Amino acid sequence: MTFYLGIDFGTSGARAIVIDEEARIVSQMRYPWANVTNWVNCWKDALWGLIEGISQEWRREIGAIAINGTSSTILLTDAAGQPVDAPLLYNDPRGSMMLKDLSSIAPPNHTVLSATSSLAKLLWMQQLPTFNQARYLLHQADWLAFLLHGKLGISDYHNALKLGYDVEKLQYPEWLEKMQIPVFLPQVLAPGTPISEITPEIAAKFGFRRDCLVCAGTTDSIAAFLASGAKLPGEAVTSLGSTLVLKLLSRTRVEDARYGIYSHRLGDLWLTGGASNTGGAVLKHFFTDDELVRLSQEIDVSQASELDYYPLLKEGDRFPINDPHLPPRLEPRPDDPKEFLHGLLSSMARIEARGYELLQQLGADKLSYVYTAGGGAANSTWTAIRAKYLKVPVVASNNTEAAYGSALLAMR
Ligand code: ADP
Repeated sequence: MTFYLGIDFGTSGARAIVIDEEARIVSQMRYPWANVTNWVNCWKDALWGLIEGISQEWRREIGAIAINGTSSTILLTDAAGQPVDAPLLYNDPRGSMMLKDLSSIAPPNHTVLSATSSLAKLLWMQQLPTFNQARYLLHQADWLAFLLHGKLGISDYHNALKLGYDVEKLQYPEWLEKMQIPVFLPQVLAPGTPISEITPEIAAKFGFRRDCLVCAGTTDSIAAFLASGAKLPGEAVTSLGSTLVLKLLSRTRVEDARYGIYSHRLGDLWLTGGASNTGGAVLKHFFTDDELVRLSQEIDVSQASELDYYPLLKEGDRFPINDPHLPPRLEPRPDDPKEFLHGLLSSMARIEARGYELLQQLGADKLSYVYTAGGGAANSTWTAIRAKYLKVPVVASNNTEAAYGSALLAMR
C-alpha cells in the first residue's frame, strides 16, 4: 500500500492529511499557532511536529508529499537555503510603497500591481540591509518543500502567479527579466510535479522511504479547491465563509481587473474566480450561529422572499458589482427575524448567481455544478435557495481541507 501526504500551511495553523491509494483519509493532525514572533522557526516546528505526529507505520509507506502555503507569503534565503530575514506574510501591505515604480514596469492591471503581491514585496525587500546576503526568493511552500528535498529555487505556477510568472507561456515575462532583480527567481513547475526524492537525512531521521518523492506544491485556496471534488469545466466551488468566493473551472482563461477576476492555471483548464464582500460576516453581525441554524430550519423555501438586499457591513464591493461606494442595502427590515434571514440568504444567492453569470459573460464555461465550502455549506435551507437561483445542482464539497487537496496533488 502506498500513502500520500498533504501538508497545509494556512493562516492560523498547519495541518497534515495522509490518504491511501483510494484517496481515503488514513491519518490527520493539526498544528495551531498564535502570537508567533519568529515565523521561520514556527513553520519548521510545525513541519517536524506534523511529520512526527504521523505514526511510524504510515510514514514508512508514504510515496509522495506535497505542501501548500498561503499565497504570496515569501522569504529570501542565502545560498544554503537559510532565511536571511523574516518572511513577508500573505497579507503584509508593505509592498504598497513600490506600486508606483512597479506600475511603470508591469503591464496595466497586472496581478502583481497589488500591495500584497509577491513581486511588490520582493521589491520592498530590496532595501533591507540583509538583502545583499540573499540568493533565492522562495514562497513559503517552496521553502518548506526544500527542507524535505534539499533543492533550492523551485516553485509551482500557482504560487508564482503573483510574482509575475506568465502561466500561459510558462515563462517569466520579458518586462520582469529586464528588471534584473539580483536574486534567483524560482524555476517554476506544474503543481504536483515530482521535484526529487526526500533527502537521505530526512528519510533516516523520520523513517521515510528513501524513494519518497517531494512534489511541487500549490497555494492554500487552490488546495482547498482540489479537495472539493470539482474536476470538469463548468464545475464550481462557492466558499460561504466571512466573504463570498466563487471559483469556476473553465477551458477559457478569464481576467478582468475591474472586478478583481483572474484565473489560475489548472493543467489544461483555468480556475477563474472572484470574491464579493457579502457573505457570512453579515449574517454573523445579525445572528448567532445557533440562531442561524434554528431560524433557517423555520424558513419555507417554497415561498420566495420579496426582500431585495445587497448585504454588506460597509460600503463598497468589487465583484460582481464593481463600485467602491456601493452602499449596503438592508432595508426594509421585517420584524420577524426569520423573514429577515430569508431575505439575506436569498439576496446573497442572487449575488452568487450574478457572479457566476458575470464569469460566463466574460467567457468562462457554462456553470453545471456547484460544490460548497465554508461555514454556510452546512445550511441546507440556504443550499435549497441557492439551487433555485443557480439552476444547477448544489452540494457540499467532498472535502474542504487544503491538506487533503495537497495530498491529492501528491497522489496524482
Ligand atoms: P472564514 O474562514 O471566512 O472566517 P468560515 O468558513 O469559518 O469563514 O465560515 C464562517 C461564517 O459562516 C460566519 O461568518 C458565519 O456567519 C457563517 N455561518 C456559520 N453557521 C452558519 C449557518 N448555519 N448558516 C449560514 N451561515 C453560517
